[in-house]
Amino acid sequence: MNTVWEKLTAAQLKELNVFCEDYRKFLSASKTERMFVKNGIEVAEKAGFRDISTFTSLKAGDRVYANNRGKNLCLFVIGTKPLTEGMNIVGAHIDSPRIDVKPVPLYEKDGLALLDTHYYGGIKKYQWVARPLALVGVVCKKDGTTVDINIGDKPGDPVLGISDLLPHLAQEQMKKPGATVVEGEALDALVGSRPLKNTKEEAVKKAVLKILKEQYDIEEDDFMSAELELVPAGEVRDYGLDRSMLLGYGHDDRVCGYTSMRAIMDMKKPERTSCCILVDKEEIGSVGNTGMHSRFFFNAVTRLLALQGSTSLIEVNDAFENSRMLSSDVSVAFDPNYPEVSDPKNTGFFGKGICFVKYTGSRGKNSANDANAEFLAKVRRVMDDNKVSFQLCELAKVDIGGGGTIAYILANLNMDVLDAGIAVQSMHAPFETVSKADVYEGYRCYKAFLKDMD
Ligand code: MN
Ligand code: MN
Repeated sequence: MNTVWEKLTAAQLKELNVFCEDYRKFLSASKTERMFVKNGIEVAEKAGFRDISTFTSLKAGDRVYANNRGKNLCLFVIGTKPLTEGMNIVGAHIDSPRIDVKPVPLYEKDGLALLDTHYYGGIKKYQWVARPLALVGVVCKKDGTTVDINIGDKPGDPVLGISDLLPHLAQEQMKKPGATVVEGEALDALVGSRPLKNTKEEAVKKAVLKILKEQYDIEEDDFMSAELELVPAGEVRDYGLDRSMLLGYGHDDRVCGYTSMRAIMDMKKPERTSCCILVDKEEIGSVGNTGMHSRFFFNAVTRLLALQGSTSLIEVNDAFENSRMLSSDVSVAFDPNYPEVSDPKNTGFFGKGICFVKYTGSRGKNSANDANAEFLAKVRRVMDDNKVSFQLCELAKVDIGGGGTIAYILANLNMDVLDAGIAVQSMHAPFETVSKADVYEGYRCYKAFLKDMD
């Protein structure tokens, strides 16, 4: 088996290690879509990107970002050719499955204070119990201020968590099917057990509210206008005795988000305008105003066109129709513990480079963006020219299951789109695994595509 590891030069291996350490730190500090956008803008501004609202005209080499509500970010490096000739786009999602806190969450029961939750995205609920969780997100107050919450990841922080039943008493629970062995309403997080002194009713809950008031200046009603997520606490870690992999929360799809973002940082004055889309809400159907179905991306590109003097609908349509896109979303890594789900000829393996997925979907390719063969041929050529390792993958054997990405949504604008992502083991689990070789090769793939796709 030829792997990326065996072909890398000594200089590339060194670059791989530096790159993956940067990614490890970035992902550890970017556990929500909001944190990814915030940290992403910081990286982008250091690399010379400026907010779209600060431009009055555009020239080749200009570096532009558009920020949608702090949860969706689009980056552009303006090309020497007019935008109407199309962009080279890489696009990833930066939301990940997690446990969200309900709008009215805090209650006391039997001397314990808990936060009621509602999970987000496709999770195996049993994986999220009996493990340290961090509480991250924002509380927006009526006075217009926003309080950032980040509890559980700083040294010395407490952590939160969800209890599980002891095996001694779980005979009935263990007979249940996996989907219900832990029920959705049993995912409430324990946040306190110590009563407030001299208090008759709900003394534990009141003690928690006192802490929230003292430390964050928030009241119980402020939960109504909050977005708080329970996510696995702790850093992304080197994985394996040989440290060849990374174990951490949120590789799906921040591993493609980060590599796509780093790829566009490296663009200087491309021929075709480079674009990187980092979008929210993919895990629940790309809905809402920060998801890929939102008008935001369309509007941002229209604004760029206007800055270049193109304002007709025909020109706007041309810009999209002449664009090419890699939908950078993770794919499935072959797992020797579960070989039965994969067709080894058509699956991703760790260390073999970026996964090109012609179609996702389920059953008879339902809801797939089936990339055009002509486009795949062009992408192959660009990858070979740049010595990027790639593998052709399906998510699984026929009729085993399936999944989707944002690919079809951009394809609706009549551009060519191919799914191209990094292989992940234990996808959607609290801790997912990727190969460092694939992270590096993903970055090289996105860079080659932005630079050389025509
Ligand atoms: Mn996913
Ligand atoms: Mn994904």
